[in-house]
Amino acid sequence: MNIDPHKCVACGNCLPICPMGAIHVDPASSRATIDEDECVECFACFRGMSKEHLNPVMVRTIRAIAKFFRFRFDPEPDICPTDAIVPQELAWPRIVRRAFSDPQVPHESTGIHGRGTAEVKTNDVTNRVKNGEAGFVIEFGRPGVGARFRDIQQVTQALAELKVEFEKNNPVASLMSDSSRGLIREDILNEKILSAIVEIKARLEEVPGVLRKLRELSQESETVVSVGVSTRCDADGHDPLREILKREGYPTYRGKTNLGLGRVTRISPHPSLSPVGGEDKREGA
Ligand code: SF4
Ligand code: SF4
Repeated sequence: MNIDPHKCVACGNCLPICPMGAIHVDPASSRATIDEDECVECFACFRGMSKEHLNPVMVRTIRAIAKFFRFRFDPEPDICPTDAIVPQELAWPRIVRRAFSDPQVPHESTGIHGRGTAEVKTNDVTNRVKNGEAGFVIEFGRPGVGARFRDIQQVTQALAELKVEFEKNNPVASLMSDSSRGLIREDILNEKILSAIVEIKARLEEVPGVLRKLRELSQESETVVSVGVSTRCDADGHDPLREILKREGYPTYRGKTNLGLGRVTRISPHPSLSPVGGEDKREGA
């Protein structure tokens, strides 16, 4: 994102809009500027403000006169009075910033929508996390902090050593050059984004090792790391993960239960729980 120095009148309205604190008013030049390295191309400043098309020279003159008489001439706080915020043409690799930071655009660079997949929410349909397995969502960054792909790679490399399975339909995985080693494409390692999610799965008995590794890495990381873990309940509603998490010292509560509302992919051993007398005869089941 750019600010046109010919148009900007240094009103400062765009500063609180930026989730990365990347916009500053330079007192020397009396213009707002964007720290290109910190900007994650979220487009919040461009989209989040109304625009007026006042003449910049006129606005600066009025502001200078008002200042002289010790009062202020400021536009309404949600307005850029001179339409000075200008998106730039984003080329590779910078375009990945927007793909991971602007929720209104699909991942053109990766071909995948959203920051991750539907995760465990649709697991009854996808059956990605099977009995005896746990699914992890590991989130890097958040507004105000952000994350660079090199921070993410630190973790994906360590996870690859634990032989976990990366979810292939995930935007970060699609940018890996070698998923068996958790390596992300070298040309994007320095790109900064608002946040990203890595999805993995592991056997239930591997959960303690994965959690310990994630805790260790998060303490060294330049960004914030949040972890969610989920599993399948058995037919009686028993959740095998709860005991494991308790043993590892995590407070456990069932945050969310997703009931299968889609196509059945698994035949229950209990005839009463299967759709057609213990046998699913629907197409594609
Ligand atoms: S809102 Fe517009 S005029 Fe005001 S500081 Fe930001 S870019 Fe400059
Ligand atoms: S695009 Fe986003 S990160 Fe960049 S300056 Fe605008 S609000 Fe800040």
